[in-house]
Amino acid sequence: MLPYGRHAVSDDDVRAVNEVLLGPWLTTGPSVERFEADLRRTIGCEHAVAVNSGTAALHCALAALGIGPGDEVIVPALTFVATANAVLYVGATPVFAEIDARSLAIDAADVARKIGSRTRAVVVVHYAGAAMDLSAVERACEHAVLVEDAAHALGARRAGKVVGERSRCATFSFHPVKHVTTTEGGAVVTSSADLAERARRFRNHGLSTDVQARERSRTWRAEMVELGFNYRLSDVAAALGSSQLHRLGQGLYRRRRIARRYIDELERIPQLEIPEHGDPDEHAWHLFPVLIHPERLRVTRDGLIEALRAENIGATLHYPAVHLQPYYKQRFGTSAGMLPVTEDVCARILTLPIFPAMTDEDVDNVVEAVDSVVRWASH
Ligand SMILES: *Cc1c(COP(=O)(O)O)cnc(C)c1O
Repeated sequence: MLPYGRHAVSDDDVRAVNEVLLGPWLTTGPSVERFEADLRRTIGCEHAVAVNSGTAALHCALAALGIGPGDEVIVPALTFVATANAVLYVGATPVFAEIDARSLAIDAADVARKIGSRTRAVVVVHYAGAAMDLSAVERACEHAVLVEDAAHALGARRAGKVVGERSRCATFSFHPVKHVTTTEGGAVVTSSADLAERARRFRNHGLSTDVQARERSRTWRAEMVELGFNYRLSDVAAALGSSQLHRLGQGLYRRRRIARRYIDELERIPQLEIPEHGDPDEHAWHLFPVLIHPERLRVTRDGLIEALRAENIGATLHYPAVHLQPYYKQRFGTSAGMLPVTEDVCARILTLPIFPAMTDEDVDNVVEAVDSVVRWASH
């Protein structure tokens, strides 16, 4: 089965990891500092704080912003559950907003409707790797902080501006299916030195100094000033991340080539619709999503996914709407009909395989399979 995404580990990656593994320092140390510097250089941001998952990065970001019980955070429902779960981790309440049917980004008008005196943050998702237009949401945010869940968007740009470059707060994931992996890992990037410092403290039990800072200031004392977590990334993982970051450009180039090919071939199929994607060369193409026109097909989206999987194409769904997950329905009484646009998209969308190691033949196979399955499924 051709998966929808797959990591690639090179000989250079293995050498970089081995070097750290056989060295004197295994957990958060010089390799994490180097990885953070590499991230700053790649993204062009002021501060980067590496942690041990993208989910931890979201939790750190919201905690560092001082969000807690009684606060509301607006999130989209077309996302991985972690986006909304992080709001629950800090004891705040997620409020789900609609997405735009064409761009699949959060709908600024719905954010404006749902924002209130309790809203402390609006988390947006650069879905699939398309850097969304932030200007309308920024206006809708009023007093709330805009947080970007950029797990899909490492290396994505909009009008030349890199995602995270000037962000008050953006988070990334280095899970194997994302652009760059540290096995598990993530990062908070921010333009604020204060926010970075708070995130750094939160990832290390809420201790006021970490080992590096203690060594630099020649002190052995550490004080716990708030309740934090152990969200530290290991030096072994960071070494993999730095080595992988060197190949980000190459990976993005290949993803963009594949996406262009898909767009050229699939645009011609009237039963399918490709979401608005802007300049394909600015997109990070973590996912390649397509929407079906159900009225032109005699199978559902699930049926189409099944048929593609029977052809060894690992088509899948990103994502089932978060507000319709059993946990959210039970805890918050959310139900179908609350977010009609999101629910319609979630019923029509599917993900096709896209990752740098895909060969041209793999791409041909996907296009052929989609073509024949759609023909089979048409009236
Ligand atoms: C992957 C992902 C996360 C979580 O990242 P992990 O590293 O798996 O914890 C959060 N949000 C989105 C949109 C993601 O795709």
